[in-house]
Amino acid sequence: MTGRLKGHDVRVEINEPRCRSCGICYDVCPENVLSASDPLRKAVVTNLDACTGCRLCEWLCTDWAINVVTTPTGETASAGG
Ligand code: SF4
Ligand code: SF4
Repeated sequence: MTGRLKGHDVRVEINEPRCRSCGICYDVCPENVLSASDPLRKAVVTNLDACTGCRLCEWLCTDWAINVVTTPTGETASAGG
């Protein structure tokens, strides 16, 4: 499942151990891609199809728990870096 940034596949990675359930990401996501998981209210991706790759969640997470990865459609992200 991928997001809908034109010409790109979008992936939203959440580093669960880093997430401290502050709620910023799921409150600010304009596309309602993210939700709070039970019972700890950590962020989870529940609607990736709607993700536009805007990176708002990544920028606003104060704990560097979110990584938005965009790759041109049809290409596989290279390892390393
Ligand atoms: S903004 Fe970061 S720390 Fe806060 S709920 Fe989202 S992923 Fe977790
Ligand atoms: S990149 Fe933008 S649309 Fe995608 S989950 Fe983050 S805030 Fe929502």
